[in-house]
Amino acid sequence: MPISFITSSAKVNSAGRKGRGIFATSVIPAGTTVAAFGGSITHRDEFSILPEYRRTHSLQIDEDLFLLCPDEDEPADLFNHSCAPNCGIGGNILLVAMREIQEGEELSFDYAMSDADDYDEFVCECGEIGCRRLITGADWRRPELQRAYKGWFSNYISAKIRQNSPAFDQASGQGLQH
Ligand SMILES: [Zn+2]
Repeated sequence: MPISFITSSAKVNSAGRKGRGIFATSVIPAGTTVAAFGGSITHRDEFSILPEYRRTHSLQIDEDLFLLCPDEDEPADLFNHSCAPNCGIGGNILLVAMREIQEGEELSFDYAMSDADDYDEFVCECGEIGCRRLITGADWRRPELQRAYKGWFSNYISAKIRQNSPAFDQASGQGLQH
């Protein structure tokens, strides 16, 4: 029995250079919950000493809490990042279709919606126009992403956005350190 839920309207398939991904097998209406993530909840103190592979296969759910996926990949661990995603975060652990998704489309979300930590920086291969290339844990601070993903950030990031008026250096493209 898998730990996480994934909709029966999607399955694992090859996603080219990104490896594997999750693809719609039929039309998925906007607002559908396509996945619910489960795992071991780990505090930052223990999380920070785990091997990189375990840390990158996780979902941040609070400032200091991380949902660790099981040792063996299951379909819910294979949703890829995209800079032009069709899914967003509901609450802290749900993945929800932001718009109608067509059969054959890859399901993706922007990791800026869930990650506010630098444990999972990577170079993006999404190939979308406007791809940010380097994906970092400070991306949630970008005003254009806050506008585009309003209502689709993890709850704890929405709270951070409300609390900190975002300090963002447009010239360097870097979020300020806190
Ligand atoms: Zn990208």
